[in-house]
Amino acid sequence: MKKLMLIAFIFGTAWTLQAQLKMKEKVTHEMAPLPYAYDALEKAIDKETMEIHYDKHFRGYYTKFLKAIEGTDLEYMTMDQIFANITKYPDAVRHNAGGYFNHAMYWTVMSPDGGGKPTGELAAAIDKSFGSFDEFKKNFSKAGATQFGSGWAWLSVDADGRLFVSSTANQNNPLMNDCKQKGTPILCMDVWEHAYYLRYQNKRTSYIESFWLVVNWDEVASRYKATK
Ligand code: MN
Repeated sequence: MKKLMLIAFIFGTAWTLQAQLKMKEKVTHEMAPLPYAYDALEKAIDKETMEIHYDKHFRGYYTKFLKAIEGTDLEYMTMDQIFANITKYPDAVRHNAGGYFNHAMYWTVMSPDGGGKPTGELAAAIDKSFGSFDEFKKNFSKAGATQFGSGWAWLSVDADGRLFVSSTANQNNPLMNDCKQKGTPILCMDVWEHAYYLRYQNKRTSYIESFWLVVNWDEVASRYKATK
């Protein structure tokens, strides 16, 4: 009897393991579409910059990201899971997963109908964390302007639900486990030279000033809501 039970147990375990392996599915990563025409953000960013940025830089990160995870366990992980363990993986994963994710978000937080100020819950949360919208704007602009070399400025929600502004180097982001200020990003601004050099040359602060004209506050608000 004991033998029979042992055999049943072994078969049962093997069957369960096999079922679990079958359930493990690869995560599909789409190349996020640009949600507007290349020239739609002209009041802030010129058509040629958008074309090169989306079709060359972004496509490059996307393609290299897929290549970096090909044939590895990372094919079964979400972006959140990859970033939460980023220190375990080669630099090619960090740079290209970051480049893919950060840009996919950047396209959505801008819009030809953007600009102005947030309203509702998001506006209240910004007032609570920064004192006022203008104060937040100052902090975020400064984070982008003072990031040395290439990087990003972020507005994120921390583990306690509070908003904070930060910047990261290269293609790093606040979801990465070794980021100094961790959180869920809801607004980002690319401050790599390739994001602004054609029109603004070395004047990063002029690009940052124009960025506010196209911020898609509806998208930022819905990303904020999703963190709650
Ligand atoms: Mn970029």
